[in-house]
Amino acid sequence: MRGGSSEAAALDAADPLKSKRDLFHLPADIIYLDGNSLGPAPKSAFAELEQAARVEWAEGLIRSWNTAGWFVLTDTLGDRLGRVIGAEPGETVVTDTTSINIFKALHAALTLRPDRRAILAERDSFPTDLYIAEGVAASRAGVELRLASDNDALASMIDSDTAVVLVNHVDYRSGALRSMADLTARAHASGAVVVWDLCHSAGIVPIEVNAADADFAVGCTYKYLNGGPGAPAFIFAARRHHDHLAQPLSGWWAHAAPFAMENAYRPASGIRRLLCGTQPILSLRALKAALEVLDDVDLTLIRDKSLALTRLFMELAEPVCREFGARIITPRRDAQRGSQVAITHERAYAVVQALIARGVIGDFRVPDIMRFGFAPLYLRYRDVVEAAAALHHVLKTEAWRDPKFATPAQVT
Ligand SMILES: *Cc1c(COP(=O)(O)O)cnc(C)c1O
Repeated sequence: MRGGSSEAAALDAADPLKSKRDLFHLPADIIYLDGNSLGPAPKSAFAELEQAARVEWAEGLIRSWNTAGWFVLTDTLGDRLGRVIGAEPGETVVTDTTSINIFKALHAALTLRPDRRAILAERDSFPTDLYIAEGVAASRAGVELRLASDNDALASMIDSDTAVVLVNHVDYRSGALRSMADLTARAHASGAVVVWDLCHSAGIVPIEVNAADADFAVGCTYKYLNGGPGAPAFIFAARRHHDHLAQPLSGWWAHAAPFAMENAYRPASGIRRLLCGTQPILSLRALKAALEVLDDVDLTLIRDKSLALTRLFMELAEPVCREFGARIITPRRDAQRGSQVAITHERAYAVVQALIARGVIGDFRVPDIMRFGFAPLYLRYRDVVEAAAALHHVLKTEAWRDPKFATPAQVT
C-alpha cells in the first residue's frame, strides 16, 4: 500500500536527517505536529540555560555582560540566524517580539517613503500584523492602512501611493507560500518597500532575502526555529537602508554609545539601530542552542523532506477527508506551500482535541481549520503514516463528539 508502514520504514532508514531527531527532547507516545506554533526543546538548550543561569548570572553577575558576550548576543545570534534567511552578517538582529519588530519595520519603511501614504496588507494576514499596522497608521498623519482581499489582489493594489507592503511569506491558515522575489520586484517597480513576515518560513523554507532584494524581514524564533516559548524574534534590514533607518523606539540599545549616557539620542550605525532596550538573556541562550542545531544543516535537505512529509500526509488524508466531510485547503503544488497542512472541518476544534487525546498534537484556528505542521528535523515518515491513521480513526469513530472536546481552551 502506498504510504504503508513498510514504505515509511524504508524512507526513514534512507533519511539524511534521521540523526537530528535525537537532538530534541520529545515526550514519549506523542507525534508532534505543532512545531509551527511552538518547536520542541533541543536537548542542548538545558545545558545552555544551566550555564547562563548558574555560572554566568549566579557567579559572573554584572561582569557577564562583557565576559560572557551578553551585550552582543542580539548581533551574534542575528548573524547566525541571518545565514538561515540569506542575509549578510550585520543585517539581522535577534530582539523583541515579531509584533514589536513589525512596528519598527513599518515606521522605518514609511520614513524611507515620506511622500507616500499607504501601508498595504492582506485582510487575512496574521492578526497582530494588522493590529500593529493599524496602530502605526493611526500614529502618523496622513498614513492609512489598505487591505487586499487576497495575495493576488495585494500585488495588483500596489501603486504610486504605496509606501510599504506588509506580507506573510507563508499564510498561517492555509500554509500557502508566496514568491518573495516576484512580489518584491512588483513592489519595487512601483517604488514601494516590502516588509516580509517570515514567522512560518524561517528555519523550514530556504530563504534568500538578499537574492530576492527584500527590504525588511521579521519573524519569530519559537516556531520552526525551536527557540523556546516567547523566544526573542528577529529583524532584518538590507544594508542599503542602514544609513537611513529611523524607528520611534529609540532606546539606549539603539544609541551610538549607550554607556556614554548622553542626554540626547544619537542613532547607532548599522542594524543595532533597530534595537530598543535590554534583552532577555536567558531566552536568548535557549535560542542560541536551537540555532546551533541548524548550523550544520543544509536547508535544502529540510525543504526536500518537508515537502515529502506534507505530500505524503495529504495523499493519505485526502480520501479520509473526502469520506468524512473535511477538506484540505493547503496548495498541492510543492512551490506553493510551506510546511503545514491545513484541513477544514465543521467541528475542527473537537477533532483536534480528539487527536491530541490520542497523542497526535496539531492545533486549531478559527473558524474551522486544523493545522498540522511537519518539521523534518525530528519527524519521521512513520509519524506521518500514524498521524493520518489517527485522523482516519477519529473521523470514522466520531470520537470528536465526546462533550469533553467541545469547549475551546484559552489557547487553541
Ligand atoms: C506567530 C506569528 C506572529 C507572532 O507575533 P508575536 O509578536 O511573537 O506574538 C506574528 N506574525 C505571524 C505571521 C505569525 O505567524
